[in-house]
Amino acid sequence: MIHDDREWRNALRSEGPDYEDESRHFAVCEDCGQAFDRRRLGDVIHHQQPGHEPLPVS
Ligand SMILES: [Zn+2]
Repeated sequence: MIHDDREWRNALRSEGPDYEDESRHFAVCEDCGQAFDRRRLGDVIHHQQPGHEPLPVS
């Protein structure tokens, strides 16, 4: 997956539920064990790729 593609998807508006508890927006990837924000579509798609690496932490 091209990095710019992920950033582009992450910028898309999220239509997810508006939880009061911020932690409910996060899930832990079963493959790489990294927690990710389910509102960031680019990150969600990244963690669905077979054999992917954890994302770089900024
Ligand atoms: Zn992952």
